[in-house]
Amino acid sequence: MQNLDVEIAMRLQEVRSLLPEGVELVAVSKFQPVEALMAAYGAGQRAFGESRVQEFVEKYEVLPKDIRWHFIGHLQTNKVRHIIGKTSLVESVDSLRLLALINEESAKAGVTTDVLLQVHVAAEETKFGFGPDELMQSLEAGDFLGLSNVRIRGLMAMATNTDDAAVIRRDFAAVASLFREMSRSGKVDAVGFDTLSMGMSADWPIAVEEGATSIRIGSAIFGERHY
Ligand SMILES: *Cc1c(COP(=O)(O)O)cnc(C)c1O
Repeated sequence: MQNLDVEIAMRLQEVRSLLPEGVELVAVSKFQPVEALMAAYGAGQRAFGESRVQEFVEKYEVLPKDIRWHFIGHLQTNKVRHIIGKTSLVESVDSLRLLALINEESAKAGVTTDVLLQVHVAAEETKFGFGPDELMQSLEAGDFLGLSNVRIRGLMAMATNTDDAAVIRRDFAAVASLFREMSRSGKVDAVGFDTLSMGMSADWPIAVEEGATSIRIGSAIFGERHY
C-alpha cells in the first residue's frame, strides 16, 4: 500500500473508533482525486459526500457502484436532472422550489429520491438553507407531505464557523430541537424521518452529543482539499 492509502485508512479508523454505534460517517470527498476516494473505499468506506454536480457525476461514472453518494452542496435547479437516480441522499435541499423540482425530475425518471432539508442556523449570512421559522411555517402548511417521488428523511445543518464550543452547541441543539418537533408533528411522512446530519471535522463530537445520526467529515479523513 502507498502512503496515501495508509494515512487515509488510519484517519478513517480514528474517527470510526470514536463514533458511537449507529452514527453514520459520510466521507466528504469534494476536491479530492479518485485515488483518495479509492483509498477510503479500500478501507471499507461506502458513504461519500460531494458538493459540485459535475465533479460528483464524473466520480460516479468511474467509481464502484456500491458507493452511497450524498450530495451536500448547493444544488442549482438547472442541474437537478443530472444527479437524479445517482444519489443515496440529497442532503442540501434548501428551498421548496428545489424540493418540488427534485420530486418532478424523480417522477420523470421513475425513481424516488431521499433528501434532507437543509436548515440555516449559523451566524454566517452566506450559508444556504431554510430558516427555522420558514421551516416550521412550511411544516404547518403541509408542504412536506404528499410528495410522490421524494422521501424527506430528516434535516442537515452546519454550525457557525467559530472556535466557541458554546455557540456551536447552541446551533446544533436548535437543529435537533426542530428535528424532534418535526418528527412529532405528523406533518412529515412518518416512515423514515430518521436522519439528522450535522457535524464536520472540527465540530462533530459536539454534533453527536446533540443527537446527530450522521456526520460529514472531509479534511479529518483526506487532509487538505486540492482546490
Ligand atoms: C466540505 C463540507 C463538509 C466537510 O468539511 P470538513 O471540515 O472538511 O470536514 C461537511 N459538510 C458540508 C456541507 C461541506 O460542504
